Amino acid sequence: MTIPTGTAVTTEGVAIRNVSKRFGDGADAVVALDDVSLDIPRGRFVSLVGPSGCGKSTLLRLLANLDTPTSGNIELLGHPPEQATSHKLIGLVPQAPALLPWRTVVENVHLPFELNAKQQHNVDGERLDPLAVLAEVGLGDALDRKPVELSGGMQQRVAIARAFCFGAPILLMDEPFSALDEFTRESVQTQLLELWRRHTKTIVFVTHSVREAVLMSDTVVVMSARPGRITATIDVGVERPRNDLAVEQSAEFQGYIADVKTALKDGWR
Ligand code: ADP
Ligand code: MG
Repeated sequence: MTIPTGTAVTTEGVAIRNVSKRFGDGADAVVALDDVSLDIPRGRFVSLVGPSGCGKSTLLRLLANLDTPTSGNIELLGHPPEQATSHKLIGLVPQAPALLPWRTVVENVHLPFELNAKQQHNVDGERLDPLAVLAEVGLGDALDRKPVELSGGMQQRVAIARAFCFGAPILLMDEPFSALDEFTRESVQTQLLELWRRHTKTIVFVTHSVREAVLMSDTVVVMSARPGRITATIDVGVERPRNDLAVEQSAEFQGYIADVKTALKDGWR
């Protein structure tokens, strides 16, 4: 998965080439990302794991055009981040669901449509019917509720439904489930996987949980801190669906967990 320097940039998927990001100057400079290269084929579910401060959020922010690399090159479906955002190729799901409190569930999902009503939508993205997607994630009975009337898991489902409905082909998710309890987390994981299976998206997903990364991903990208680098990319070969106790307890699944944990430890040395 890691592409050697000099390889032609692909127009499919996400291409990250020799990207470095430094904050500050001189002795106080923080090298958040150091020469990171990664190729994410279209339609893949890729997780980033690594210790706190290894640059996961920084990398997502660069992809989403919320910041610019110090050096290197990024293309999303053949477009630099600035164009990719203006073409609506990217949807961002943050750690906190970021719903407007005075709007109902269905009104929150409609928000990006209203904000972009005058802009032509990019043909790459398939816009989905909010009512159908909300039903898919089990919120069909909660359409008229306000965020304050929803549990944390329900709020996060609204945020995920909103990202899917809007139609961006690439979704960036920064630890979206970290605030949820274990039971809620499992059901939201299952629903995200089901949405991803039904409506092809390229997903870049940041998580602290090795188990979650192996459960969800086609590829787990392991990073190390100071400076932030990719130390391993592990393709998970376990057949889907994986959210089943027998699958999770299998030697194959546990073997991938061990591989990711070993790669994380190697990165600390
Ligand atoms: P992660 O998401 O993996 O925990 P981050 O990408 O948030 O890590 O941060 C990577 C490193 O860059 C950290 O050392 C962090 O302190 C630093 N950093 C991130 N954003 C900024 C910023 N805006 N200004 C200065 N340093 C930053
Ligand atoms: Mg982070």
